[in-house]
Amino acid sequence: MDDIAADPSHPRYASLLMRHRLEVAAKKGMLAASAMIAHGRGEAFDYLLGERTTASAQRAIRQALASLQSAKKPVLSINGNVAALACDEMLRLADALSCAVEVNIFYRTPERMKAILAHMNERKTVLGVDVPVLGHAPDAQIPGLKGPRAACHSDGILESDTILVPLEDGDRCQALVAMGKEVIVIDLNPLSRSAQQATITIVDELSRALNSMLTLVEVEGEIEADPDYDHEAVLGEGLSEMLNTMKDS
Ligand code: ATP
Ligand code: MG
Repeated sequence: MDDIAADPSHPRYASLLMRHRLEVAAKKGMLAASAMIAHGRGEAFDYLLGERTTASAQRAIRQALASLQSAKKPVLSINGNVAALACDEMLRLADALSCAVEVNIFYRTPERMKAILAHMNERKTVLGVDVPVLGHAPDAQIPGLKGPRAACHSDGILESDTILVPLEDGDRCQALVAMGKEVIVIDLNPLSRSAQQATITIVDELSRALNSMLTLVEVEGEIEADPDYDHEAVLGEGLSEMLNTMKDS
């Protein structure tokens, strides 16, 4: 899938690969004009983290997985950047959880929806996974949001009890929390509104976090939730880990 000029031995290979994936997705019409800005903000925070999954992120990853596994109706939300950066990982995770993915984008246009859905369905066929890909026929609204970004499927996001929304906008994250859902965010910025408002926040790079989740499922299967899990404390640790990485370098 990745036809990239850089060599895997390059010290910035992972970062170059993600940029390459965004370029390819942009050419396919999957991204909003602001997608690169959002990615750049993420990259800056990843540098501060030392481009690694920290101990607190690993705890959030375990808790997120436990929450998704014990949910009645989990769903994984996909936006343009997520489809560009980690389409396969999201499909594999949905397959492991036997749940749907739903394409749900902030700047909704029919062209972008079509491009993202086509990409998801193409990768679904290549991977040979039997995952419902929703987003093509929204018939419901997320209460509290205005305009096309409120659109969703009633048999997907609307009725879900637990939702994974990587790289989500703060506004929509808040609207989903207000619906009483367990909202799991993956966001490298521990200070973003999404990171602050979610039920569980994984402060880690998207593809690293998803690959850790997939490995956990493979190695341990069913994960038990930590009854003492403290969202704010884990977020605070994420921030301290960034500050310590800066002090040590
Ligand atoms: P909020 O609306 O929550 O306050 P924001 O407006 O600053 O956040 P958005 O543009 O809505 O940010 O969403 C992009 C978010 O995704 C940023 O917080 C950025 O740090 C994060 N991000 C970007 N790329 C990645 C990535 N590959 N992995 C994890 N997080 C990322
Ligand atoms: Mg925002």
